[in-house]
Amino acid sequence: MTADKILIVEDEAPIREMIAFHLGRAGYETVEAANCGAARELLADERPDLALIDWMLPDMSGLELTRMLKRDSQNSDLAIIMLTARADEFDKIAGLESGADDYVTKPFSPRELIARIQAVLRRAKGDNDETVEAGVLALDAAGHRVTACGREVRLGPTEYRLLKFLITHPDRVFSRAQLLDRVWGANVYVEERTVDVHIRRLRKALASESASDYIQTVRGAGYRFSTRNP
Ligand code: CA
Repeated sequence: MTADKILIVEDEAPIREMIAFHLGRAGYETVEAANCGAARELLADERPDLALIDWMLPDMSGLELTRMLKRDSQNSDLAIIMLTARADEFDKIAGLESGADDYVTKPFSPRELIARIQAVLRRAKGDNDETVEAGVLALDAAGHRVTACGREVRLGPTEYRLLKFLITHPDRVFSRAQLLDRVWGANVYVEERTVDVHIRRLRKALASESASDYIQTVRGAGYRFSTRNP
């Protein structure tokens, strides 16, 4: 099992280093950013599981960064905990409305912070382990199985990841470049044609249960998963 990766976005170095130290001791992998610009670069390269984002940052507020990340489909799976010195109820609500999953007020103890991180990650993963059903298909993420009309569909690892991504983001068009980023990872340099190859294999695997129509080509734009007719 790989350690969960946490991105710490905090401009005050002593606080950032203190957090990284305690998270490291608790078994997490950490990456650090001193501002929003650096955080956004790290997000693409490191793909963290969770981001701790301080409210007060030099280039943009942590609140704006959270809003931006939650709107961006590239980061929609990222769990976010906001860190702030502001304790009043108004800011707490603003923090959660921005899309943050939780909120920790400074000063906090390392133990409290780690407990919140564990809870948010557990929740985020719980969602991912649910069985997703669409039309005749069911994808059981915990068991890593796909069935169509109750019969098991055999998929290669890439086809499985591709289907898992598409079935959990239905009725939305993704370009080949977006699929490469989301399914293969931002740092993998493969040609966009590769996406077409795996889409073809996925359709073939689903064809016997007439579920291949769910994987739809949108001319000039990319691919979409939908149980409705194109
Ligand atoms: Ca700060």
